[in-house]
Amino acid sequence: DTGYDLAHIRADFPILAQSIHGKPLVYLDNAASTQKPRAVIDCIRKVYEEDYANVHRGVHTLSQRATDLFEGAREKVRAFINAASGREIIFTRGTTEAINLVAQSYGRSKLGAGDEILITAMEHHSNIVPWQMVCGQTGAVLKVAPINLDGELILDEFAALLSDRTRLVAVAHMSNALGTINPVEQIIALAHERGVPVLLDGAQAIPHLTVDVRALDCDFYAFSGHKLYGPSGIGVLYGKEALLKAMPPYQGGGDMIRQVTFDKTEYNSLPYKFEAGTPNIVDTIALGTAIDYVRSLGIEAIAAHEHRLLAYATERAAQIDGLKLIGTARDKGAILSFTLGRIHPHDIGTLLDHLGIAIRAGHHCAMPVMDFFQVPATARASFGLYNTFEEVDTLMAGLRQVIEIFG
Ligand code: PMP
Repeated sequence: DTGYDLAHIRADFPILAQSIHGKPLVYLDNAASTQKPRAVIDCIRKVYEEDYANVHRGVHTLSQRATDLFEGAREKVRAFINAASGREIIFTRGTTEAINLVAQSYGRSKLGAGDEILITAMEHHSNIVPWQMVCGQTGAVLKVAPINLDGELILDEFAALLSDRTRLVAVAHMSNALGTINPVEQIIALAHERGVPVLLDGAQAIPHLTVDVRALDCDFYAFSGHKLYGPSGIGVLYGKEALLKAMPPYQGGGDMIRQVTFDKTEYNSLPYKFEAGTPNIVDTIALGTAIDYVRSLGIEAIAAHEHRLLAYATERAAQIDGLKLIGTARDKGAILSFTLGRIHPHDIGTLLDHLGIAIRAGHHCAMPVMDFFQVPATARASFGLYNTFEEVDTLMAGLRQVIEIFG
């Protein structure tokens, strides 16, 4: 007995208690987005019913209350990732916007022709395309560290690609397509030896791992609320204060200024310099509630449960003829990406849906990873804090049916 009370936990997620095509829902698409506990849903309703107003500008009571809740959420995020200060927590729409912010603010102001940005071959498109864009704007060059057939970063080659021209390293803490957890401590140490700052794309890692930005000593950390049992449309960019302070604003508008005349504008202090316009007030507050929820279970307990689920699913998957795992890293999060012989992943996904099982089929916004493994797509089951061993059994039984029908 692990003391991890799944029945109790599942009861916190209203959406899970339903049937799809007459079968109990088995939700295994958590790497795309997670479901929301009642506490988060209730929080959104409560704020709109009782506490809602614009933030940071009102002298009236509701505005003060909304501002306190909003800034309270910033403090919850700060504590969750152990940042030194709330000035280092920038609210964004999500991971994608956080990375674009760094590319356009830090990147665009720092990069010149021939400078280099180093990423890996396993990145999500949102940690590729923003760098290609800023390279196009500045003449900088994108370098890509290769991976091996297990889907692990080849660290020696990564180290060899760090050069005197490298201005930034940007890597996934955990890959969404493969499940690989990168050796970020070593990556950061190697980059820092050369004085190169490191951005971690934490979209997948944040719901599965304890993230301590000060222990990691990463320079930027990006994640999305919707993968952490919170709302979509809200995410976080952590940045070291000294870096953020020196960076120009990303967008101009209200809230990010101290004083505006037609001649000259003086920017606001951190973190507001990077938060132009009315923010996503209620979803930000609800992200704080999601963090409270995750902390109430304990991220270590969640990680241990997901690790057991992954080990069990990996073992069961090995018994299915023709199933090939894509991503067999030694250090791996709760993602099972696979192909089934010649059966197209979309057919797998469609048939499983008829059995009530939600997985993802496609390129997972990581087309270069698909190219590397020479597959057009994979099927991906990804586990969250509420998934059960019985659901893994249901998935495997479903896959056997897929093979019977299409195989
Ligand atoms: N990076 C990784 C590793 C991801 O898994 C995702 C979401 N699939 C993103 C970035 C982008 O996150 P978002 O769409 O929430 O901005």
